[in-house]
Amino acid sequence: MKIIINGIHANLRFASAHMIPCHEFCGGIHGHSYHVDVTVEGERGGEFGFVVDFKTVKGIVRKICKKLDHKLLIPEKSKEIEFKNMDKFVEFSIRDKEYKIPREDCCLLPLTSTSAEAMSQYFAEKLLQALALEEADIKTLEICVNEGIGQGACFTKTAE
Ligand SMILES: [Zn+2]
Repeated sequence: MKIIINGIHANLRFASAHMIPCHEFCGGIHGHSYHVDVTVEGERGGEFGFVVDFKTVKGIVRKICKKLDHKLLIPEKSKEIEFKNMDKFVEFSIRDKEYKIPREDCCLLPLTSTSAEAMSQYFAEKLLQALALEEADIKTLEICVNEGIGQGACFTKTAE
């Protein structure tokens, strides 16, 4: 059985800035009002016959959203970004573009990109890790990270 959580209605949202280094249109810093849809598939169990408690899933996903909200999302593992400093300011360059952003305004992510594709995988891995601590028999979960209404990327992660 599956449980489905709609990110717009369940308030799994964040508004952040990012860029896709070296991309013709997305290379400049720009923002999205993101929302995250979640599907969890597994066996029903426990006292209430839940796949997993909605509240638990929402709590985990909301916490990740909060970390990203109102930040510039920077992919630490990007091959195009050359980091120079990460203390009070995050200083980096992308080809001939130089950036210096206050550290508190940045969220550095262990990713090669902050595309919707990369972020859906990031959310799926974090959520599965957190749900492993719960007493739930989860088979797969799917995360869709939507860059506003009408476009998003979905990643399916299978529990091992
Ligand atoms: Zn974008």
